[in-house]
Amino acid sequence: MKIRGIFIKCLLVLIGLQFYSGAVFACKKHTIIKSLAPIEHVQSQMESLTPITLAPDTTYLDPRDQQALCLLVKASKQIDRIFRRQVHEKNEYFLHELKKYTGTPKQIYFDYFKTMQGPWDRLDDDTPFINLSDLKPPGVNYYPADITVDEFNNWILAHPDDETDFISPFTMIRRCRDTLKVIPYSSYFRRDLRITARLLRKAARRTTDDTLATYLRSRAKAFSSNNYRQSDIDWIGLNGDIEIVIGPYETYEDSLFGYKAAFESFVTLVDREETEKLKTIETYREALVENYPLPEGYDLTPKGLSSPIKVVNEVFSAGDARSGIATIAFNLPNDEWVRDNVGSKNVMLKNMLEAKFNGVLVPIKEVILAPEDQGKPTFDGFFNFVLMHEVSHGLGPGNIVVDGVETTVREQLKELYSTIEECQADVLSILNNQFLIELPDSPMPEGLQESLLASYLAGMFRSIRFGIGSAHGGGIAIQLNYHLQQGGFHIGSDGYFYLDEETLKTSVRSLAEELLTIELTGDYNRAQTLIDTYRFISPEVQAALDKLADVPIDVRKIYPFD
Ligand code: ZN
Repeated sequence: MKIRGIFIKCLLVLIGLQFYSGAVFACKKHTIIKSLAPIEHVQSQMESLTPITLAPDTTYLDPRDQQALCLLVKASKQIDRIFRRQVHEKNEYFLHELKKYTGTPKQIYFDYFKTMQGPWDRLDDDTPFINLSDLKPPGVNYYPADITVDEFNNWILAHPDDETDFISPFTMIRRCRDTLKVIPYSSYFRRDLRITARLLRKAARRTTDDTLATYLRSRAKAFSSNNYRQSDIDWIGLNGDIEIVIGPYETYEDSLFGYKAAFESFVTLVDREETEKLKTIETYREALVENYPLPEGYDLTPKGLSSPIKVVNEVFSAGDARSGIATIAFNLPNDEWVRDNVGSKNVMLKNMLEAKFNGVLVPIKEVILAPEDQGKPTFDGFFNFVLMHEVSHGLGPGNIVVDGVETTVREQLKELYSTIEECQADVLSILNNQFLIELPDSPMPEGLQESLLASYLAGMFRSIRFGIGSAHGGGIAIQLNYHLQQGGFHIGSDGYFYLDEETLKTSVRSLAEELLTIELTGDYNRAQTLIDTYRFISPEVQAALDKLADVPIDVRKIYPFD
């Protein structure tokens, strides 16, 4: 009997195996993976991202909040599934098939697929690396793949009552025969959203933080009602240690119209030390502005920050927040009504900045800076430069008077405004850091004086690699060329960039004066002249950029919670 038993078992296994191999064969025949990019290419793309583990200390949290945190990570994993389906209806099938490569050299396709959250390479203009002939539709899975802008707009013209739902950030558009249909996210992703909502409610019951519980409950409700406003308001009110954002937010993935919001999640912990530092900096507001080099006869009333800054450390991220180039800061919510009536928040991810410093800036400084300066940049230098850049946006001119008429800098400088404003926030960051460092009871970290300017120079090469077409990149090109002309930096015959710190401080001050003059006078032509004169890549800078070809572009996030 025993033998028989084993025999029967074996027979079943064999039959099973036959069925199984038949199934595999059938799958292979109809597999959704039709072609793959060369493995060496995918490998080198993956290597352009340095793997960095993000593991902030969570042990100081109350045990109940630690449990809540784990539940929030679990909920975020659902967000990954939802986002992948927003990108491509069949992404979960791809993932299932690619998982079979685990333990073989082809596993790289699975890993890269997860990093890109789909079959398109976000580091290479969305070129497909799986199914090479299937290009990314501009409206991804939000709209029917073959929809055109005209078809969508004509539908709305013919059916004006549909407009609100069609352009809502929280709906999918589908075609049914000759008609277009709208499906709310709450229906389209019902199953995954229900699971996520259940986890959020469970976390709300565990946490000791009432503001967090309120947000989690209202967000869970929004997942089924498809109305996110109240939960956006509750998010502004968060004031405990756990800072989480979870739901549909940014609309960049919709390159057809920019209407539809992608699901994302950032689970983070507030950095208490930085929060205290920001409070101290706030008390020096007036003194910082008094220190500015202003043109004769002009006063400056700072416009103030449109959103308060919160510095946090990332514990986990998912969905849109974990695809392509890693985010270092975000400003939410995007609901204009909430922004106007309740406010918004600037969230800076400190450990993510540290990851970029170690993964990208350290290799850059070793290629760019003169050997004697290579030891100078530190994370403190890089972080405080970025932090004060954000603060300085609020300490510049906003409302101005031109020819007796009240106006704003933005209105006067039009399309040049962003480049001038980003450039100004950079140079004012150096000026403001310098001022705070020199205070007798300075709130800034020790050793910042030695690292600030070298970190500033190395950081320029991190940003300018993404091109000078963007406001940030353009602003950096202006600073780099201005300081080279003034002698704040010079390029040695060995190709390295040498710092002349005293000259650089003077050069920063004179560029700050030029930018503040442009903004205070709202002088469009003067802004155009500054941009035309300094926004370019010289052959020397290009040669330095060429040397960075092998330096990672960005980082790949790894979490202990994965
Ligand atoms: Zn900025």
